[in-house]
Amino acid sequence: NLTPPMVHRIIEECRQEISIRRPTMGNVGETYASMLSYASHEPNAALTRAVREMAPADVIGELTVSGLKGRGGAGFPTGVKWNLAAKAESDLKYIICNADEGEPGTFKDRVILGKYADMVFEGMTLAGYAVGATEGILYLRYEYTHLRPHLEAVLETRRQARLLGENILDKDGFSFDIRIHMGAGAYVCGEETALIESLEGRRGEPRNRPPYPVEKGLHGRPTIVNNVETLATASCIVARGAKWFTGIGTERSKGFKLFSVSGDCARPGVYELPWGMTVQQLLELVDGVGAKAVQVGGYTGELVPASQFDRVMGYEDLGIGGSIIVYGQGRDMLEVAENYLEFFVEESCGQCTGCRIGNQKLLDGVRLLQKGTCSNRYLNDLIGLSHSIKSTSKCGLGQASPNVFIAINAHFQEEIMARPILAA
Ligand code: NAD
Ligand code: SF4
Repeated sequence: NLTPPMVHRIIEECRQEISIRRPTMGNVGETYASMLSYASHEPNAALTRAVREMAPADVIGELTVSGLKGRGGAGFPTGVKWNLAAKAESDLKYIICNADEGEPGTFKDRVILGKYADMVFEGMTLAGYAVGATEGILYLRYEYTHLRPHLEAVLETRRQARLLGENILDKDGFSFDIRIHMGAGAYVCGEETALIESLEGRRGEPRNRPPYPVEKGLHGRPTIVNNVETLATASCIVARGAKWFTGIGTERSKGFKLFSVSGDCARPGVYELPWGMTVQQLLELVDGVGAKAVQVGGYTGELVPASQFDRVMGYEDLGIGGSIIVYGQGRDMLEVAENYLEFFVEESCGQCTGCRIGNQKLLDGVRLLQKGTCSNRYLNDLIGLSHSIKSTSKCGLGQASPNVFIAINAHFQEEIMARPILAA
């Protein structure tokens, strides 16, 4: 039970400034000009280059060649998304920056918004130019309300500098502005269609897709929804060119990525790293060697046991949203499963029976296992239930919610069997 002083301390800790760490990586060396160096040396170089030298299609072309994939977690190619929105016929289009960063263990977007907001707004403006949108909306997580005054000030400075508004940078007919919309504390509103429902004034419940937002999004108009990091990275790419970006990372995972690292390691924080490291290499970097397991990609991601620490972080293998949670040897994995399931039960929007009721049943089952009052047959039923929840859920929340239970059952059987299991 949290007392008010404990809650206060947690909130204060959450507001502390975090700096992005960027270790020198042997495999990229000096050519590794990162997102951070863009922020400090070349502000607005991308937008200037775009409006003065590039047609909208060239901007999309640069992103397509760069191979940039969505940094929210799903990894959809950004150039393809922008191209679909550009081709959609409509007199009104929208650019939404999804800053509803709610995935447990993920806090990289918070750092970008706090320190490098200009890059995000520049990316949104570039997207507006590329697809012909005039309005941008930053959907900000309720828990990040403290960032709003700073973000409003950055927007105002950009307006004064003619980086937003009418005829941006004297480009005739190019008008674009950005407003901030506050979320209300629901994790599911990070799902893009629930976010759009919420923006339209309804309950934040995911819609069926297709149609995807690029075709029919906010108010039924073509809408790009991109993650904070994706938009900031798009600015770097347009400023420096796709070739620079493709020189970093791996064959199928171009560039670098921000990783939020937390849990049982001595150096948690936000790291800017090229794709292609193994889990083990990352653990060495953050001083978490000897861990029992690592959750890669937040609660909706994948639990990687120690026997698989040679797996590679990249779209070839572990394509992730940016959250790494380290579990040390002392962790009880059933407690971990209980914690995840409590979260999903709390955050389910309730539309799908499997997600609404199934996750509660799964949580009840985990608690029976913890108490040593679960039968073998019921354990098998819980595994079957997990697969049913996955296949009957409309959105990523329900589809991913049983993953941790399935993984613990597959990789940490001995911990389950360490408690009594009833024969019947
Ligand atoms: P998705 O793969 O369905 O879609 C990803 C993006 O690509 C969306 O913008 C979607 O509109 C677009 N897209 C996909 N297919 C398309 C098509 N045929 N035509 C046009 N556009 C298309 O994934 P999702 O359900 O939107 O997101 C799930 C991801 O979100 C998971 O990987 C999860 O890790 C991540 N996530 C992130 C956070 C966070 O805080 N960053 C929180 C929860 C979940
Ligand atoms: Fe809502 Fe869960 Fe269904 Fe997603 S899977 S729409 S969160 S009930």
